Amino acid sequence: MYQETIELLIDGEWTRGSDGSTLPLINPATEEEIGSVPCAARQDLDRALDASRLAFLSWKKTTAAFRWEILSRAADLIEARKAQIARTLTMENGKALAEAEGELQFCADATRWYAEEGKRAYGRLIPARSPDIRQIALKEPVGPALGFAAWNFPAGNVTLKIAAALAAGCAIIVKPSDETPGTAVAIGRCFQDAGLPAGALNIVFGPPAPISEHLIASRIPKKVSLTGSTPVGKLLQRLASETLKRCTMELGGHAPVVVFDDADLDHTLAVLTAAKYRNAGQVCTSPTRFYIHEGVYEAFIAGFVERSKKVVVGNGLDAGVQMGPLITAKRLDIMDGFVQDAVAKGASIALGGERLNKTGYFYAPTVLRDVDDTARVMNEEPFGPLSQITPFRSMEEVIERANSLPFGLASYVFTSNGSTAAVMSDALETGVVGINHTSVHEPETPFGGINESGYGAESGVEGLEAYLRTKMVSDRRI
Ligand code: NAD
Repeated sequence: MYQETIELLIDGEWTRGSDGSTLPLINPATEEEIGSVPCAARQDLDRALDASRLAFLSWKKTTAAFRWEILSRAADLIEARKAQIARTLTMENGKALAEAEGELQFCADATRWYAEEGKRAYGRLIPARSPDIRQIALKEPVGPALGFAAWNFPAGNVTLKIAAALAAGCAIIVKPSDETPGTAVAIGRCFQDAGLPAGALNIVFGPPAPISEHLIASRIPKKVSLTGSTPVGKLLQRLASETLKRCTMELGGHAPVVVFDDADLDHTLAVLTAAKYRNAGQVCTSPTRFYIHEGVYEAFIAGFVERSKKVVVGNGLDAGVQMGPLITAKRLDIMDGFVQDAVAKGASIALGGERLNKTGYFYAPTVLRDVDDTARVMNEEPFGPLSQITPFRSMEEVIERANSLPFGLASYVFTSNGSTAAVMSDALETGVVGINHTSVHEPETPFGGINESGYGAESGVEGLEAYLRTKMVSDRRI
C-alpha cells in the first residue's frame, strides 16, 4: 500500500494547493494509479516566494551550530524512517528496495556532512597595504534558492539541494519531479519535524514549465540549482539570465567506459554489470558507451551477456529483484527506437532488445555489440538498460572517441597499469572519473559535470560553496 500523503509545503503548512488541480501518480511497476499530486497555483507559488524571502531574513542570522542541530535531527529522522520512505520511493520510481534504502542512507549521511561543513564556511583575513586597515572576506548565504530535481534519485536529488542550502543559511523552494512526489514530501517532513522554521523549506509540484518560469522570473530567489536533462538546463539558464541568478547545473551524461586488455576482467565485469542495471540504467553516471580493447573484446561481451542474463527484473518491492521498470511507458518506445536505429547502422543484439511481456514499464537488459559511433544511442543519453559495446585498438583512438560528445559527466577506466590510469584520467573530459570502479559520488566529494553536462558541483566543500557568496569588508581603525 502506498502510504504517503502528497501535499505542498508552503510557509510551514502542508496543503493541497489553492485551486484543486492534480496530476495522477502512477506506479511504473504495476501501471496503477496510486495517488494524486496537487499542483501549485500561481498564488501558491507567490506565497512560497514570500515565505522564503521572510524565512531567509531570520535563517541567515542563525548560527552554524544552531543549523547543525536542526540538520542533524533531520538526518536522524531520515535514517529512522528509511524503511518506510524506501517503500514510497520504490513504488514511485521502481528501483529495487535495497537500492532505495541505500539512497536514503546517502541522504542521511549527506545531510550530516553538510550540517558539519556549514560550521566551516570560513572567510579569510587579507593582509592590507596599510597597518590600520583590516580586510575581511566574509562568506554569506547567497539568498533564497530554487531547486529543480529529477525523478531518478527522488530522495538524493532533493536532499542534496535542501541540505546544502539550509546549511549555508539559505531558504529554498524545491520543485521535485511530479513522478516521485511522495519521496520528496517524506524528506521534507523530516526537515520540518526536526524543527525547521516555517518558510525555510517550501515544496511545490505541478507542470514544470509554468512553475519554473514564474519562480525564476521573481527577483526573490538568487540561485537556481537543477538536476535534470541538458535541454532543460539550457532553458532554465536562459530564464535565470533575466535576473542574473547564479546557477548550478547537474545535467545529463553519456559515460564512456574504457576497458584495456590488462584489466582484471572478472572484477571489471562484476563492477560494470552492477553499475549498468542500477535504477534500470536511469542514472546520469550510468556506463553507456563501452569501448573494449580488441584483445579482450569477445571475452568481455561473453562475460557481460552471461552476467546480464542473470539480472532479476521485476517489481522493486519483491525480494530478490535487482532491476525495476523504466519511469514511464514513453521511455519503452525510446529504447526500442535506439535499438532499431543501432541495428540499422550495423549493430547486433547480443541480449534483450525489447520490452518485457508483462504489466509494468519493463525493458529487458540489452547488450548491443559492434555499435557504430554514428548510432543515435552512442550520441543521445540512453537513460535505460542499454549497453553499447564497440572495440578499440589504441589509447589515442579511444581518447578521441570517448571525448567526442558534448557531454562530460562521468567516465570509467579499467586497467591494471598505473601509468595508463594516470594518462586516461588526465585525458578524459568529464567532471568525474572512476578508475577500476564506478563509485564517483560520496557526500564529501565534489560531484558535477563539465561542458553540456553542466557546471558547479553538489557535495564536497564545493557543494556548500554553491550557496555562498563573498563580501569584502575593509575596516579602518579610527
Ligand atoms: P528533466 O530535465 O525533464 O526534468 C528535471 C527537472 O526539471 C524536474 O523537476 C522537472 O520538473 C523540471 N523540468 C522539466 N521540464 C521543465 C521545463 N520545461 N521547464 C522547467 N522545468 C522543467 O529531466 P528528467 O527526465 O526528470 O531526469 C533525467 C535527466 O536528469 C537525465 O538527463 C539525467 O542525466 C539528468 N540527471 C543528472 C544528474 C546530475 O547530477 N548530473 C543527476 C540525475 C539526473
